[in-house]
Amino acid sequence: MVQKFYIETFGCQMNKNDSELMESSFRNNGFIKAESPDDAKIIVYNTCSVRQHAEDRVIARINSAKNSIRNRGGLIVVAGCMAQRTGQSLTRDKVADLVVGPYESPRIGEIIKIYLNEKNRNSFLSQNYDNFSRRINIKNVTENDKNIWHKWVTITHGCENFCSYCIVPYVRGKLISFKSESIIEYIRSLSLSGIKEITLLGQNVNQYGTDNGDIPFYKLLDKVAETEGILKINFITSHPKDFSENIISVIKDHSNISRSIHLPLQSGSDRILDLMNRQYNMKHYMKIIEKIDKELRNYSITTDLIVGFPGESEEDYSETLKYVKDIRFDDAYMYAYSPRENTPAFELEDSITRNEKIERLNKLIGIQKKISQKKLRARIDKTESMIVERISKKSDSQVMGKTFLNHPVVLPGSDQDIGKNIIIKIKSLKGATLQGIRIV
Ligand code: SF4
Repeated sequence: MVQKFYIETFGCQMNKNDSELMESSFRNNGFIKAESPDDAKIIVYNTCSVRQHAEDRVIARINSAKNSIRNRGGLIVVAGCMAQRTGQSLTRDKVADLVVGPYESPRIGEIIKIYLNEKNRNSFLSQNYDNFSRRINIKNVTENDKNIWHKWVTITHGCENFCSYCIVPYVRGKLISFKSESIIEYIRSLSLSGIKEITLLGQNVNQYGTDNGDIPFYKLLDKVAETEGILKINFITSHPKDFSENIISVIKDHSNISRSIHLPLQSGSDRILDLMNRQYNMKHYMKIIEKIDKELRNYSITTDLIVGFPGESEEDYSETLKYVKDIRFDDAYMYAYSPRENTPAFELEDSITRNEKIERLNKLIGIQKKISQKKLRARIDKTESMIVERISKKSDSQVMGKTFLNHPVVLPGSDQDIGKNIIIKIKSLKGATLQGIRIV
């Protein structure tokens, strides 16, 4: 009997990519995607380990669904970073029936098939380098992809930067860059199958090639941009310490590389950046911003910020606010620091109370929100290009997508427009979403 699967995804874009790979693997092995978890026999939780809270949320989620899944003879699979980090304990504690680490995502269909046939209760955790080629393999493009326009393309795995608050290097392991020829070949095949937009993915894409002597990231970006048929290229995440001027020159040379740059700042204080082991200072960060500003002119810039890092004084916090006001990010992911066991920062005295952290965070969010609104309002009356992504959640007669600068837009349209590259005019702003009309 054909089995149905359902994947619930938590966490970052790497996990979204992994879920896409899992979906292809399931389909290629004869499984069918269920519309809802209640309709599925195999439920995969693709998890995140970055914060303790993220792991707690998944456990709570599984616990609330467990009885119903078990009563209908279903299978609970935990995949992703939490699977890699906690391994066998999840099966031992009967949270999951099977644990599959993130490196095994492209072959999860085969793994489940073997499990169902042989009841082999092994967990699958590894960082087996031979398996990485499966991530950028044309076999991942299934018939189902004919209706989509975007693909995540992982170019590196792991991270060796060891920011003091981050668990990723301990979970995902050392940096591994995939071969540039395989990446280019994969993107060419994506383009031939109708994909119009791609996002190059890595914990720090700017470090691409430094582990294996392959071409540097800016050269890879240049080659990717030359692929016929790819209309928009995004890349995340960039680490400021490795963001070279060459990257800006390549962006400038290619009209299909999005002028939307995500450059995590984390803190505006050199002292805190040092404690975070970020390996750059504000002088370096501002030099990049000035260069982007001078060379690209029409661009958007987003960032990540952490407030309340251990030892952050009022003065350090004011530095962050000052730079946020000076740089004027289009948007920011903002967090109050929360300690993560087994990271160096966990050993630092967490001197700031939870209330103080929340106060600092709220004030920062208030300032950034006003800046974001002003920057969005400045787009009104501009002509922009966009690829239509989906029907709007609020109205069946509206579609939504992102402009070339990755600002969200809603406009009148139907499901016939999905995947089309269109030209629009921005007419107004509602909340944090631009409202447009189609011109071409
Ligand atoms: S660059 Fe720093 S924050 Fe990003 S994954 Fe690596 S260690 Fe974590």
